[in-house]
Amino acid sequence: MKEKIPYKIYLEEAEIPTSWYNVRADMKVKPAPLLNPGTGKPLKAEELEPIFCKELVKQELDNDTQYIPIPEEVLNFYKMYRPSPLVRAYFLEEALQTPAKIYYKFEGNNTSGSHKLNSAIAQAYYAKKQGLKGVTTETGAGQWGTALSMACSFFGLDCKVYMVKVSYEQKPFRREVMRTYGADVTASPSNTTQIGRKILEEFPGTTGSLGCAISEAVEAAVTHEGYRYELGSVLNQVLLHQTIIGLEVQAACKKYGIKPDMIIGCAGGGSNLGGLASPFIGEMLRGEANYQIIAVEPASCPSFTRGKFAYDFCDTGKICPLAKMYTLGSNFIPSANHAGGLRYHGMSGILSQLYHDGLFEARAVEQTSVFEAAQLFARVEGTLPAPESSHAIRVAIDEALKCKETGEEKTIVFGLTGTGYFDLKAYEQYNNGTMNDYIPSDEEIAANLAKLPKVEE
Ligand SMILES: *Cc1c(COP(=O)(O)O)cnc(C)c1O
Repeated sequence: MKEKIPYKIYLEEAEIPTSWYNVRADMKVKPAPLLNPGTGKPLKAEELEPIFCKELVKQELDNDTQYIPIPEEVLNFYKMYRPSPLVRAYFLEEALQTPAKIYYKFEGNNTSGSHKLNSAIAQAYYAKKQGLKGVTTETGAGQWGTALSMACSFFGLDCKVYMVKVSYEQKPFRREVMRTYGADVTASPSNTTQIGRKILEEFPGTTGSLGCAISEAVEAAVTHEGYRYELGSVLNQVLLHQTIIGLEVQAACKKYGIKPDMIIGCAGGGSNLGGLASPFIGEMLRGEANYQIIAVEPASCPSFTRGKFAYDFCDTGKICPLAKMYTLGSNFIPSANHAGGLRYHGMSGILSQLYHDGLFEARAVEQTSVFEAAQLFARVEGTLPAPESSHAIRVAIDEALKCKETGEEKTIVFGLTGTGYFDLKAYEQYNNGTMNDYIPSDEEIAANLAKLPKVEE
């Protein structure tokens, strides 16, 4: 049978979904509540509102509303770069000589270069609507900071970004994109916050971590009048906004009669994977369909595959709420591997619960094998993938090669979350053959897990 699927499937503008999907409404076991680190009691909206925008707090705590309408202003911004294409990877299939049908949802088609803009624009919108002056945030690899800078400039908000020092130094161009959009960018840890000064004293010469930059950004938000903090991953609200990805995939599949067997996404804090997969997981939870879903993480920061499902701090400074999640411990500082967006010690609480309940599986992959996949993908499909996204490419290729052995014509969908133009240092190391595959030892992981806070459940 001759395939009739176009290389790139674009929905019409009018087919962009107009609501986000809240998978918590369909979960029998809800994600555990965030806890106040002082009292050990579930956080109430009033306690979160000094940190986050009101409407976002409401979304964070909403375990019941299945669909949440996307505000018109947000939808209008989405139209600048959405719908994003669902691409049939004909060239990759050909290169692999696989009977599998491979599709990828490409989210790199905007200046931030990643899916992060999907949530940034929503978060900036709610901050503006609340009448705030500005927002603070952290950024690791730089994609989130760029996305939030773009969103803030669109809505006329001030944006303070704490950028993990190693990225600040490795990616000066990223920083300039943010500044072009009007953001104020500080290398973290910095001496502009109490917690930054404390970390610098304790670990002089540290290249920083996401957990540490989060502490600084939160402190900056609560100490500046008219500011709130915004986070680009991990939170329920972020996963909610990112469901635009999976809902578009569902709509495209329906339109073209495509039935995915397998859905693959890289997992840092879980937002793209959650966004891509949760509409499909919803079908599983409601008993309507079944899919094999795979989370892919770096072997250097293996939260799902080697972490513990427990309450932990979301940040190094231990000022944020406690979240129940798969974690490596908030003191875990992963080696400076190149998938900067996948270096967080924890994981989305929603995905953690779903993983715990067996709705998907997880794999850890090593850096050089990820870049090998990235290089093949770039050569045959044209797009230079982000190192983060290439984790998903690695496993999509592995699964397609398995299909070649067994002759199965599985349909594989993976998330291509972004482009790698700011990751050329990493590509340089790969091309020079000087890239290494650091994997933390059991002792290192156990030592960090031993320091998890004691929480009674
Ligand atoms: C941030 C980022 C990720 C990882 O974050 P998640 O919240 O796990 O999606 C993956 N890919 C790219 C390109 C990113 O910028």
